[in-house]
Amino acid sequence: MTHHDLAAAARAIGQDQPRYRDMLEALARVWGVTESSSARPRLPTGLDEHRELKAREGLPLLERAALPFDDRISPGLFREVIRATLTPDHPQAEGLQKLLDLAVDDDSLINDLLRAWLAEDAAVMEDLAGRCDLPPAVLTFLARMTLRPSLAALRDGLRQKLDGLEWDEGHCPLCGGPCDLARLTADDGARILHCALCGHAWEFERLACPFCGGRDPGSISFFTTGENGYRVDYCENCHGYVKTVDQRELQAEWPWEILEVITWHLDRLAERRGLKLRPRPDAESRMS
Ligand SMILES: [Zn+2]
Ligand SMILES: [Zn+2]
Repeated sequence: MTHHDLAAAARAIGQDQPRYRDMLEALARVWGVTESSSARPRLPTGLDEHRELKAREGLPLLERAALPFDDRISPGLFREVIRATLTPDHPQAEGLQKLLDLAVDDDSLINDLLRAWLAEDAAVMEDLAGRCDLPPAVLTFLARMTLRPSLAALRDGLRQKLDGLEWDEGHCPLCGGPCDLARLTADDGARILHCALCGHAWEFERLACPFCGGRDPGSISFFTTGENGYRVDYCENCHGYVKTVDQRELQAEWPWEILEVITWHLDRLAERRGLKLRPRPDAESRMS
């Protein structure tokens, strides 16, 4: 999908979804910037070593903190993403302007921020957020958007290495990230999970929990809101949930990025039921 497609899809579905129209319009502006930028992150070497063995042990190709990104284009892109986000009526307009002033000729500040976000180094994020009077969540958003072209290039560059690998885990085989969305395919209802971090998608068992691996039919359940094709699968055991689109019922195949936005109300409903989006966010806790 090209940048025009993603921004155009956001605007098209915004027409049908008034409650998400403003959000989708804002994202379409940002995607107009990120999707037209191509990144060339340096792919790590030595990934073939023990690749199959690692996959059998549930270890992803790369660790989150080691994900490479294009640090040459990222600073400029980060500034463009801020400018695309910074509308006069933005509730954080002042903080975003402060950040832009700080970042205007400081590429290393930006690359350090991106590295800190990947490494989940909260101290660096909070320090910069504090200096700009911005909620850390705004920095997270900017970092995620800026890294999109690098992560897309990484997915393309590493796809071949994942082909044919035996992988029956609920976390991402590429980066170890948790899943945030799932699709049941139109033809045979196979369950495809989507990685919240790098955007890779992989097939996973229909009746198992991606978070705790539970397979007890009594603990796997789902709820719906009456919207055709949308539901929330969840696990009584670990309280993890996955927003799911059943493409056998829903004809339009929206990109994952759009699905993430137009299913926000499902997150609110899941939260109200005490469910959690990422009950086990990292590999360490999964081992225990
Ligand atoms: Zn991933
Ligand atoms: Zn579970």
